[in-house]
Amino acid sequence: MRPAVFFDRDGVLNEDDGYAFDPNKIRWVEGAQQAVKAVNDAGYFAFVVTNQSGIARGFYEERHVRNLHEWMSRELGSFGAHIDAFEFCPHHPDGLIERYRVLCNCRKPQPGMIRALLERYPVDIDASFMIGDKQSDLDAAQAAGIAAYLFDGANLHSFIAQLLTDRPLDPLPQIHSRSGAARNED
Ligand SMILES: [Mg+2]
Repeated sequence: MRPAVFFDRDGVLNEDDGYAFDPNKIRWVEGAQQAVKAVNDAGYFAFVVTNQSGIARGFYEERHVRNLHEWMSRELGSFGAHIDAFEFCPHHPDGLIERYRVLCNCRKPQPGMIRALLERYPVDIDASFMIGDKQSDLDAAQAAGIAAYLFDGANLHSFIAQLLTDRPLDPLPQIHSRSGAARNED
């Protein structure tokens, strides 16, 4: 088991310019790439969980979001950083595109995207945390039982470095993952 950092995307990794999907228009938040690398190097999973109602609204399609995430992965790779998994929610209850016009359990503040990742990866929930720029990010994390912090919008690396320092990993639960898991079930 390893802890995880759950990143919101827009407003945390890239500047929130509104329904971004074109790599040519993406502006990284200051320190974002270094922040992901710090999370990688500290032994955490790095996940992205992002509401993309622009799909339901007909502004862009799922393939555009996947393409953007592949581009972000390549950019991060040039820093020696990587995201272990991207999760996005394409839904919105008022969407124009019928198949996405649903009240889902993945659109934050619902915890569905976080829970999906917890099912797919061996995550130490107690040592994990979420970084978001909206209350709905924090609410989603809380609903999944994960700590969450509101990003101040300045330098993401400084912000994360402080959190990684404040939440030092005890190496024992990583080595004895079985006992760690049992403890979580108490
Ligand atoms: Mg955001």
